[in-house]
Amino acid sequence: MPYKDPEKNKVAMKVASKKYYATHKDDPDFTNHRKETRREWYLAHREQENERSQLYNETYKEKLAVRRREYDIDNKEYIKQRTLNYLASHKDTIKAKRHKYWTDYKGPLTKQKRAIFWLRVLELYGDRCSCCGEDLRAFGTIEHINGGGSEHRKKNNLRILRDVIEENDKSKYRVTCWNCHLGAHHNGGICPHKTHSTLRVKPKVVQCE
Ligand SMILES: [Zn+2]
Ligand SMILES: [Zn+2]
Repeated sequence: MPYKDPEKNKVAMKVASKKYYATHKDDPDFTNHRKETRREWYLAHREQENERSQLYNETYKEKLAVRRREYDIDNKEYIKQRTLNYLASHKDTIKAKRHKYWTDYKGPLTKQKRAIFWLRVLELYGDRCSCCGEDLRAFGTIEHINGGGSEHRKKNNLRILRDVIEENDKSKYRVTCWNCHLGAHHNGGICPHKTHSTLRVKPKVVQCE
């Protein structure tokens, strides 16, 4: 011990190790060894270390946030480059993520996406007309049971399918064929199959439940 006083000794050791680090920090042998021993130490003291850093983060929350912002401003170019490098080296995973995002009903609606959405709608709400049982997809429409369809379309434009899927509410929406949908629209919300079935020119062609 260069000093008999342990406190003084501690300070001296700190100064010496700082000096050593300053002169050796570019030596790969030294930095690798330092990394390894630090990692070993961390693994042996993991819980205690995590607790300590959690406490530190909580205590200095605001200070750390300010420092992080300053760092972001000072290193703008570096961060930009790092992001670009990341994008270039993770092309495939990003693509896969985007695909998932795309099929998870986010972003603008395309023709292709509409087809996927419709499959999901048919899965959730039933794959045939709620009135007459028509099961040709080309006839399928979404009916707003309590009205408000035109308002919905105005507000959300092409996003209507996404809302229908996300809400998954059978008391609000149902799949209805064009025929029944339009019929109901002109008949106070009830399909003429249900109210006009006795007025057929030639009865018993189609029977709704
Ligand atoms: Zn129908
Ligand atoms: Zn009908």
